Amino acid sequence: MGTTSGPVLALAGGVGGAKLALGLSKVLPPDRLVIVVNTGDDEEFHGLHVSPDLDTVMYTLAGLANPDTGWGLAGESFQTLEMLSNYGAPTWFNLGDKDLATHIRRTQLLSQGWSLSQVTRDLCQRLGIEHAVVPMSDDEVRTVVDTDDGPLAFQEYFVHRHCEPRTRAVSFHGAEVAKPSPTFDTALRSASALVFCPSNPFLSIDPILAVGDVRERILSFKGPRVTVSPIVGGAALRGPAAKMLEELGHPVSCVGVARQYRGLCDLFVLDQADNAHADAIQSLGMEPHVTNTIMNTDEDKIALAKFIRRLLER
Ligand code: GDP
Ligand code: CA
Repeated sequence: MGTTSGPVLALAGGVGGAKLALGLSKVLPPDRLVIVVNTGDDEEFHGLHVSPDLDTVMYTLAGLANPDTGWGLAGESFQTLEMLSNYGAPTWFNLGDKDLATHIRRTQLLSQGWSLSQVTRDLCQRLGIEHAVVPMSDDEVRTVVDTDDGPLAFQEYFVHRHCEPRTRAVSFHGAEVAKPSPTFDTALRSASALVFCPSNPFLSIDPILAVGDVRERILSFKGPRVTVSPIVGGAALRGPAAKMLEELGHPVSCVGVARQYRGLCDLFVLDQADNAHADAIQSLGMEPHVTNTIMNTDEDKIALAKFIRRLLER
């Protein structure tokens, strides 16, 4: 990463991705970082376009995220949802009163013909975010989880059914014909390094890889590619990543994660709790690097981001 080289391209889902994205934004200036976010989770609720992962990253970088959940806004209330419930509307998807403003504004701008990239840039700018936070695509991609109970739309599986049905496969409707968003496309050409944030490989990273020719372009990407494991000590810190590894027949460990990145990644960051797995990572063709990857505080996020920056500067 010389001074004239391109930005770091970080790929992220929601809560896990946003933590490292925040760390990276504290150690890299705005012209040295592009954060590309999964939109396979996007869904319409009450006629509004909701982009949960984009919002999680946006609220986190703006310092507005709810510190207890990692998603949604701090100091949120849910009166609109209560009233919607009085009207008999389905309210299993949590939408706070302030959060609804984001979805109203996004939907309004989309209906005026703005692209999701343009809308996201506008929302981020108005929240004071200087770094580029962009959707993986401006085209519609929808994650569908094929389960023992049949195919379920992503939010139906994740929120309504609490990830309980057993996963058989995951697919990304529309991904094949979707194009990377303009900033993502440029970053795939100009970035000096690539970071897979500690996001769910099946639900947050795979949809990004499924967009158009993104997987091929990352397979042949020239700079160093680094992954941070979202699995620590054989468990997910939250969400269904460990459960899905088991259901899809992979080892429930950072090794199972690393398997998903074969050929896509050169450097694999695993937690100090998983030191014993370093050799197995090496034999998958990735250089293992051990550190603390649990990001509870901003200091943790910054420390991990600095660790990654040092790896990329070698
Ligand atoms: P989602 O879209 O909100 O589900 O978020 P992501 O896919 O971006 O992140 C979910 C993953 O983040 C889960 O598998 C968690 O285990 C992982 N995760 C959450 N917090 C941390 C953390 O502090 N460190 C690491 N290494 N992984 C984390
Ligand atoms: Ca998500």
